[in-house]
Amino acid sequence: MTFISKTPHADVVLIGGGIMSATLGAFLKQLEPDWTISLFERLDQPGLESSDPWNNAGTGHAALCELNYSPAAKDGSVSPAKALLINEQFQLSRQFWSHLVDNSLIGSPKGFINTVPHMSFVIGEDHTRFLKTRYEALKPHPLFRSMEYSEDHAQIAKWAPLIVKGRDPQQRIAATRAAEGTDVDFGALTRELTTYLGNNGVEINYGHDVTGITRASDGGWDLTLKYPRSGEHGKIHAKFVFVGAGGGALHLLQASGIPESKGYGGFPVSGQFFRCTDETIAAQHSAKVYGQASVGAPPMSVPHLDTRYVNGKRSLLFGPYAGFSTNFLKNGSYLDLPLSIRPGNIIPMLAVAKDNMDLTAYLVKEVVKRHDQKVEALREYYPEAKGRDWELITAGQRVQIIKKDPQKGGILQFGTEVIAGRDGSIGALLGASPGASTAVPIMIELLQKTFPKNFKGWQSKLQDMMPGYGVKLDENPDLAAELERATAKSLQLESVSASH
Ligand SMILES: Cc1cc2nc3c(=O)[nH]c(=O)nc-3n(C[C@H](O)[C@H](O)[C@H](O)COP(=O)(O)OP(=O)(O)OC[C@H]3O[C@@H](n4cnc5c(N)ncnc54)[C@H](O)[C@@H]3O)c2cc1C
Repeated sequence: MTFISKTPHADVVLIGGGIMSATLGAFLKQLEPDWTISLFERLDQPGLESSDPWNNAGTGHAALCELNYSPAAKDGSVSPAKALLINEQFQLSRQFWSHLVDNSLIGSPKGFINTVPHMSFVIGEDHTRFLKTRYEALKPHPLFRSMEYSEDHAQIAKWAPLIVKGRDPQQRIAATRAAEGTDVDFGALTRELTTYLGNNGVEINYGHDVTGITRASDGGWDLTLKYPRSGEHGKIHAKFVFVGAGGGALHLLQASGIPESKGYGGFPVSGQFFRCTDETIAAQHSAKVYGQASVGAPPMSVPHLDTRYVNGKRSLLFGPYAGFSTNFLKNGSYLDLPLSIRPGNIIPMLAVAKDNMDLTAYLVKEVVKRHDQKVEALREYYPEAKGRDWELITAGQRVQIIKKDPQKGGILQFGTEVIAGRDGSIGALLGASPGASTAVPIMIELLQKTFPKNFKGWQSKLQDMMPGYGVKLDENPDLAAELERATAKSLQLESVSASH
């Protein structure tokens, strides 16, 4: 066996070079500068799986436009609770990114974040009633104070002309708009973060596959590595391991054998986007316009028509069109799903298969959709769209969490979940939503669960990095406005607090 890791031991090993590992590394580098950290990524660059800008939609999820974060209750009322939580979480991400920019730890924010207003758009009487109720539930809260509502075609056309042009003027439509929305290139941000880590003593290893993880006699972990290009193998010992392998996390977590991993399964959902790079068309739309999900559709399959900024170029994205593939990673294997089935998760997986027939039917319907039917779906949002202006691209894989449930045997979960070994020597992230936007609060949760003793001592440093850390901004409108202004300045975004 040839040893290919430069060091035989690290305090921390980060598996995967996506936004999560990069964010965790950036925290640890500042909280414990003397700890030795090694990162292993199987591909040749960071951020090429789900964090790549064309593998995700790049929405800075702050619940400003995503209707699935605030569904209507049976009586038609709308609770703002989840939308508030997600917005508060996104504010932490904004603050951490601002801290990194302000201290020149990463480069220009223009390379990874841009202001793109967030809109919700609905058609028909019932959906209009829902949107108005949602608007009234959110508007009184400081983090949603800039939100505007309209049912007027002319007003909505001012916000987003392409969604109104060519539409029946009698059609009942409604929209909300939040000017402070963002588009984020999580791939570019991941690259900024890994460059910062590499320049500050973190050993970065691309093209290294972590193939195994076993408990070491000292309570740490022995990792086996493969360098696919040369077929060489190696190993490294770590005191702490973060399994930040995205869709690949479940297999590694299962390999670790920790009891906390038992009963988890994965349900992969693939997807496609339409992309339009025609500059004249892209110049006519400046918004992320989210609609309502179709019946049976998973929450993350809500259609949306988005302005994107990738590598300094503005373009449009529409989708997603969901699909099904048994891969857990875009660059994964068809065997990923079958190989993840274990005696411990077979019951939850079967229960989910039985209870989610509407989701299965939806996915089958989506998979067989022809190109012209996909264009038809686009025309609900952009009536004058022409199929020839749009190319179909394959999005990243999402692996939704399947877990045990005492009543149903198993449930399908659409969020993310931090899994931590009881002794704190290993942590992992499963699931994909709201995902990259909330990488900062998710990694703080991971630090809290895996380093409970150190965490107390890290509080003041975390507060220095993120002045809103530990504060409910919803209950502190002045601080919310001040931080919105400050982070907008650091990240070169448009500020709404300045005008309110
Ligand atoms: C279609 C789609 C749309 C989305 N839209 C949004 C959005 O609009 N906004 C948002 O905030 N989030 C969105 N997300 C979610 C977001 O993309 C993810 O939450 C985020 O990118 C996950 O980051 P990660 O670091 O966990 O995973 P990844 O970026 O997938 O990184 C994991 C890395 O681990 C590597 N790896 C895997 N196995 C191994 C191994 N054994 N050894 C070494 N390396 C390994 C992989 O190659 C990969 O680079 C979307 C996701 C998808 C799929």
